[in-house]
Amino acid sequence: MPGGVVDYLTVMTSTNTITTSAAAHEVAALFLPGQRICLTTHVNPDGDGIGSEVALVHILRAQGIEAVITNPSPTPERFAFLFTDLPGVDRSGHGVKELRRADAILVLDIADLGRLGNLAATVRERGVPVGCIDHHASEGVLPPGPRFVDATAAATGELIFMLARERGWTIPLEAARALYVALVTDTGGFRFSNTRPRTLRIASELLALGIDTEQVYLDVYASAPAGRPRLLAEVLQTLVVEESIGLAWLTVPPGAMERHGVGSDDLDGVVEHARSIRGIRLALLFREMSGGRIKVSLRSVGTVDVAVLAARFGGGGHSRAAGVALPGTLGDVQVSFLAAAREYLAGLPR
Ligand code: 5GP
Ligand code: MN
Repeated sequence: MPGGVVDYLTVMTSTNTITTSAAAHEVAALFLPGQRICLTTHVNPDGDGIGSEVALVHILRAQGIEAVITNPSPTPERFAFLFTDLPGVDRSGHGVKELRRADAILVLDIADLGRLGNLAATVRERGVPVGCIDHHASEGVLPPGPRFVDATAAATGELIFMLARERGWTIPLEAARALYVALVTDTGGFRFSNTRPRTLRIASELLALGIDTEQVYLDVYASAPAGRPRLLAEVLQTLVVEESIGLAWLTVPPGAMERHGVGSDDLDGVVEHARSIRGIRLALLFREMSGGRIKVSLRSVGTVDVAVLAARFGGGGHSRAAGVALPGTLGDVQVSFLAAAREYLAGLPR
């Protein structure tokens, strides 16, 4: 695909060609035949984390290099279809054991030990190179290793594509499909502000490789358990709108997820309903997590930077989508977080 290569390099000059190219080169140096490579991503992995991992497994396999996936949380059912042709590759159930045998670790879609859950201690102490490919703005702490980080990328999947192009590696159809999942999910179906010309150019190249986009849609968004829309119905009942300041928030009623037999992945996109209201600048979703902490999902519109607000509470993310997990009861966290959110909004120009 010669045209594609030219396009891609042209786009790269608008960011930082030398850095990107050198970073891709350094990360690629982790992948040596015969080495044990573990790919990992953040807790409660999403389509970008899983899609990037699966794509990289296929891309590396085509280069004669084997890698396994070791995540701190199980793969959501929604993404199981990506593994049907990769038996034995998802080793998340034995993450610590696999990491102990790894020659190199590559962290995807997160640049911080803080969100590696039960794998964090092993990643920190292993003493092997820990590479990172990520698109988050917030800097994190990881053991030494090569970094390929670009906050202008809509998804980590974009960076996996660039890495493959940069190295001249083939992108097999299964890898293209996984990268497309990464792009579609992290851009909300190419609707969010992180959708840039490069994002669509890469998506276009992926489609040209022959992906069945309708099947991807059916697999990712239209294979839900009945509990997912039932949970949505309950959560939407909790909507509170503070119109004068542009704040809207939703709450997952305690016990509702268990009652409907669904997991955190089934809440993906729910906070968008709060953001969808005219005049809303900040949308929040509160829920109890299994570990006893309270998760707040933040989404914004316009000038409101939710990464900044989340960071005040020890969380992070992107300017329009961020998150944080806080200790305390649901009620207490709501009171303190909503107070901070109101104050934050009051300090911003409308
Ligand atoms: P979500 O609300 O969909 O779980 O997460 C939105 C974005 O916020 C994610 O892409 C991630 O970057 C960030 N994020 C979510 N939860 C946390 C968290 O607990 N800590 C940090 N640092 N970032 C988070
Ligand atoms: Mn991502």
